[in-house]
Amino acid sequence: MVEDLKIVPGLLVQKDGTYALTIELPNGILKARVLEVLAEISKGPDIRLHITVAQKIMLLGFNHEAGIEAMKKLEAAGAVVRKARDLSHPRVCVGRPYCKLAFQDTFAMGEYLYEKLARQVTPPKLKIGVSGCPACCSWANVMDFGLVGQRSGYKVLIGGHGGARPRTGQEIATISSEQEAAQILGRLARLFSREIKRKARVDRLIKKLGIERVKREILDAH
Ligand code: SF4
Repeated sequence: MVEDLKIVPGLLVQKDGTYALTIELPNGILKARVLEVLAEISKGPDIRLHITVAQKIMLLGFNHEAGIEAMKKLEAAGAVVRKARDLSHPRVCVGRPYCKLAFQDTFAMGEYLYEKLARQVTPPKLKIGVSGCPACCSWANVMDFGLVGQRSGYKVLIGGHGGARPRTGQEIATISSEQEAAQILGRLARLFSREIKRKARVDRLIKKLGIERVKREILDAH
């Protein structure tokens, strides 16, 4: 018999009939209080805790009631449970002052972009990466919007993606502040939402409008 259960934002039914939820970890950082709650929840016999490649944690194996209960506990501990189709947090490498190769403070950039843009609705998917140097450990060079740290500022790349036919992003600018990065990303997200109505990546936007027009639209006021 199919269960008739109310749809709860953030609780996703899986193919096996169980429910999952995902928490965001801005800058890939897990706070102690959230970790304690995760430890408690993951003691459940069928619960699996999966660390995604997007620096999030997915919890699998709930029944409906247990999923709602887990969500409440996590939110009370300060975790952000992902509920809507909006800009997710950037994938961020450790950067300065921790990595010996880093040119830039990636956590400061990741936090700023998340604070400014996290709840901006976009078509799926606009993936963001921030790397502190050209080694691109966070794969910023194959993201829809990537920032690659240089000695001075960041290179801005757009239109990269993975998948069956991966593509490197195209370099469109160099920026020197978090504010500039957020302005360009915000304009890109708005243009993407306006022009592309179905599931696609920024690469499709570039194919539709051409790279020069996309650059004009997102850089001109820059
Ligand atoms: S991308 Fe560069 S700065 Fe970031 S972790 Fe890798 S080597 Fe370090």
